[in-house]
Amino acid sequence: DRIAAADGKVAAYLSVQGEAALEAARVIDNAVAAGDAATLAKPLLGLPVAVKDNLCTQGVPTTAASKILEGYVPSYDATAVRKLREAGAIIVGKVNMDEFAMGSTTETSAYKVTRNPRNLGHAPGGSSGGSAAAVASGTVLGALGTDTGGSIRQPAAWCGVVGIKPTYGRVSRSGLIAYASSLDCVGPIATCVADAAALLAAIAGPDAASDATAAEPAPLPDFGAVLRGVDAALEGGAGGGRGRPLEGLRVGLISEALTAGGVAPEVAAAARAAADALAALGARIADVSLPRLPQQCAAYYVNALSEASANLARFDGVRYGARARDAASARASLLRTRHDGFGAEVRQRILLGTFSLSAGYADAYYARAQAVRAGLRTDFARAFAGADVLLCPTAPTTAYRLGDFEAKGVASYADDLFTVPASLAGLPALSLPCGVDAAGLPIGVQLIGGAWQEEALVRAAYAYE
Ligand code: GLN
Repeated sequence: DRIAAADGKVAAYLSVQGEAALEAARVIDNAVAAGDAATLAKPLLGLPVAVKDNLCTQGVPTTAASKILEGYVPSYDATAVRKLREAGAIIVGKVNMDEFAMGSTTETSAYKVTRNPRNLGHAPGGSSGGSAAAVASGTVLGALGTDTGGSIRQPAAWCGVVGIKPTYGRVSRSGLIAYASSLDCVGPIATCVADAAALLAAIAGPDAASDATAAEPAPLPDFGAVLRGVDAALEGGAGGGRGRPLEGLRVGLISEALTAGGVAPEVAAAARAAADALAALGARIADVSLPRLPQQCAAYYVNALSEASANLARFDGVRYGARARDAASARASLLRTRHDGFGAEVRQRILLGTFSLSAGYADAYYARAQAVRAGLRTDFARAFAGADVLLCPTAPTTAYRLGDFEAKGVASYADDLFTVPASLAGLPALSLPCGVDAAGLPIGVQLIGGAWQEEALVRAAYAYE
């Protein structure tokens, strides 16, 4: 009923599995009535969630918001989806996104334009805009998104909700329709830190059989205990005052991010205020440097599009989804399927990626991007030498107006400069609301942690919230 009431305007959903969701709820009701202990122990029992449409759902259409996958119905659940179901969550629908997760506003979707629930004239962000909008409009308690270069964090920031991009490998990519395999991460979007942490706990874990990169050198902590620790410290302040749960935490304020060209003054001010709030909770704040932010952004796009051009080669009209009919030859069918099936943004990116990998250019583009990516390791090591957590805005501006992404063209790629470093380095990062601008649009602040250190992010964000 809520989807029917809210989604006419917001348009976050590509499909709603209402009957299946009600049936799942009835099964849970019956098990609960029978006192079934295994059911009662499930951590997300009965909670309604939405899933980004690039994650395979058994028996339910999965399009990645592309015409080329129209009619594709997977025979299996993505590992993250299966784990959500096993934890008791009920999947109520598949949500909109940029086509193949390529974009920042969800406007490259081949199917519909999703609006920002906080202001319908603005974009919800992207590429997981449907996930953020579904949560922000109150139709689900949480959603799965994916983040290759910011696609969980930036829509969470623009819609005023919480998003976590886990460490690369924390969550299995099995059943995720690939964009750039060395960068793709599955993670949660929710209205608050505790809910996002609970969703992450449910989907995390190694998956040796299906995704060799899904690993767990350091398991996630019991987030419930972490949050209770923060609550206890908050309540236990001297003289009955508010305690300092972040005592000892070193937060590095990324100085270039507050002065970079294109950062809205209100966004920079809100990030600084968030750092002050963490200081009041006991954290020690110091300026740190993450140089070469604009170069990272360029390296990200060369890297991501190169991988995308290889990943998207599999869409040939034979194995999945739509196929151009009545072509004179197999080759003509392949060419027409790909021309008609991919949208303009995706075609542009396949061409750019193919170019940067081609003989004669690969050294100038792909190899140099790889070198910049490798250098980032040193930059982060230096920044983390004096900090446990890094802080900067999630995005340089609040939500674009609808239409801005297309109007800006490739210039909009530069607005990913704060989210791509954690992606290139595989580090966990969390976005949480930290205020609004003069127009009332939400501002998000980003916390970046060391590899496998999601605990520090959740602890700091929960204390702040
Ligand atoms: N906006 C970035 C891009 O288009 C990030 C997208 C993503 O994380 N999927 O590549």
